[in-house]
Amino acid sequence: MTILNKTFDTQYNTAPFSKIKNEDFLPAFKIAIENAKNEIDTIVNNTELPTFKNTIEALDFSGEELDRISSIFFNLNSAETNDEIQKIAQKVSPILSEFSNDITLNEDLFKRVKAVYDSKSDLELTTEQETLLDKKYKSFSRNGANLPEDKKEKLRAIDKELSQLKLKFGEHILAETNKFEMLLTDENDLSGLPEGAKEAAKQLAESKGKDGWLITLDYPSYIPFMTYADNRELREKLSKAFGSKGFHNDDLDNQDIVLKIANLRFERAQLLGYNTHAHFVLEERMAETPEKVNAFLNELLDKAKPAAQEEFEKLEAFAKEIDNIDRLQKWDSAYYSEKLKQKLFDLDDEKLKPYFKLENVINGAFTVANKLFGLQFEEINTIDKYHEDVLTYKVTDSEGELVSIFYADFFPRSGKRNGAWMTSYKPQMIKNGVNERPHVSIVCNFTKPTKSKPSLLTFNEVTTLFHEFGHALHGMLANTTYPSLSGTSVYWDFVELPSQVLENWCYEEESLKLFATHYETGEVIPMELVEKIKASATFHEGMQTLRQLSFGMLDMSWHGIDPTAITNVKAHEVEAFGATKLYPDVEENCMSTAFAHIFQGGYSSGYYSYKWAEVLDADAFEYFKQEGIFNKTVANKFKIFVLSQGGTENPMTLYKKFRGQEPQPEALLRRAGLIK
Ligand SMILES: [Zn+2]
Repeated sequence: MTILNKTFDTQYNTAPFSKIKNEDFLPAFKIAIENAKNEIDTIVNNTELPTFKNTIEALDFSGEELDRISSIFFNLNSAETNDEIQKIAQKVSPILSEFSNDITLNEDLFKRVKAVYDSKSDLELTTEQETLLDKKYKSFSRNGANLPEDKKEKLRAIDKELSQLKLKFGEHILAETNKFEMLLTDENDLSGLPEGAKEAAKQLAESKGKDGWLITLDYPSYIPFMTYADNRELREKLSKAFGSKGFHNDDLDNQDIVLKIANLRFERAQLLGYNTHAHFVLEERMAETPEKVNAFLNELLDKAKPAAQEEFEKLEAFAKEIDNIDRLQKWDSAYYSEKLKQKLFDLDDEKLKPYFKLENVINGAFTVANKLFGLQFEEINTIDKYHEDVLTYKVTDSEGELVSIFYADFFPRSGKRNGAWMTSYKPQMIKNGVNERPHVSIVCNFTKPTKSKPSLLTFNEVTTLFHEFGHALHGMLANTTYPSLSGTSVYWDFVELPSQVLENWCYEEESLKLFATHYETGEVIPMELVEKIKASATFHEGMQTLRQLSFGMLDMSWHGIDPTAITNVKAHEVEAFGATKLYPDVEENCMSTAFAHIFQGGYSSGYYSYKWAEVLDADAFEYFKQEGIFNKTVANKFKIFVLSQGGTENPMTLYKKFRGQEPQPEALLRRAGLIK
């Protein structure tokens, strides 16, 4: 027994960070897994007939101890890790996946789940219970539980091969990225680059024992060079190297792997009774079918293309004007866009930062949440934290009832991974009649204050804070019975709605004047600056939209069809890109062979969801704008039908209850100024 295997006897049952020792984790996991196994055995060995309560509900409430220990451990591994924790993670991860495989492959357990599922129509279930039953049943059936033994074996063989191929795909890209180096010895070749980027290139060369400046395909090196370097030939060289990863017909080539992955996914889907891999994936998405995704992408394409073409022509004319460039190429895109943007907006972060002192922005987010949802945030110093930088709050509603515990961890340090994210230490659920409130956290990497200067955020950091805070509200306001349906446990293409919609409050005068005040003078941010921020935020939105659509369409071209007839990766890709094309094709480049999102990560048949989420948030915010951005009625509908519902119902149904209609792509195009 370790401290982690007990109920935490603190006021809010919060994690006892300061009392946990690293050596507690492994034994705690082992005990918790044993306990979770016993809970599953109890369900399986129940002599009573399977019911919703003794099987489905019992399954969802099982493993609570294991979930809490996992969330504490893996959250620390992201936000405050060290060698020891990473070693434990390597040991624990396979044990955990073995445990979850044991559940999905447990045939006796599936028999009971199926018995309940098959009698669904006779049971008087609530909508939430029906959703839970469906979800539990599918967690087995989508892994082959209904298949005869020989097909089950086939499925497992496919899964094994797929995971090896995905691994190999990623290894090849990594090796290709690391292999390429562009060493520059003439300082003139770096003309245009900001000092910081030059410095970094110099240091990189030094670290490898070389003289000069080293440019690589890693984003922090590649992006500044493509954006600022005046030397067009070098940009071309770098761009072509970047675009040909996995496409050299050598031992790091990914063309065969791409074909194999697409075909195995198709075969797997067919085994399970689906038309294509996309049909399989989209069954558990708001978009539901490939037909709907394709229609969505095509509708956006039709409407955004004229604007994109106009932007492209203007950019080409601009390049002609300043550098006498006749035909704009891919390696010119970031460079001339940046130049044109500077010319049009002359907006730099240093001008904006004084209006966004971190404390003011936090208070701004809290004020927005208060005006919309009646939430109160009170800083408390009585609960344990994992690092002294972490801020802790008690969140209550307008009646003073506890809504959530909220952790906020803003500054970078070694042991914290990059980026920003929302997570939780304890889910919300209603167990034994008690509504257990969640413990929610956001983690960011913002500039730390110094002795003489407070933390002043860039505008991008401001929207990041609101974004993560939007996810946090989804977690905090959760009000469901079952933990696996609570808060942000929603379909993938719905989860970014609360976060993205909240970013909109960063662009409105009515909300900015509540918190965007100069940290020295107290002056409210000038509206002329706000207008510039807005205009620059949608700069080249048409071309950006086409780019995103091209990736979404490429993804669907591999996964929404029968791929068995495809033999040439490049030819297939050129065809898929046809409708979205602006720049001339580069013969020696291939996107698919390095498209890690869909061939290595989990985005297959899911790339459309970036645009989908934008449409949702633009459409939802348009409703707020119509009625007033702090309108209580709209806010309350958003809380009741979206934020508090988690995954208890199909997201389209929830969205329509909030909005009164399905989301309209026009809302996004209007916000971006692409249509009137
Ligand atoms: Zn997000």
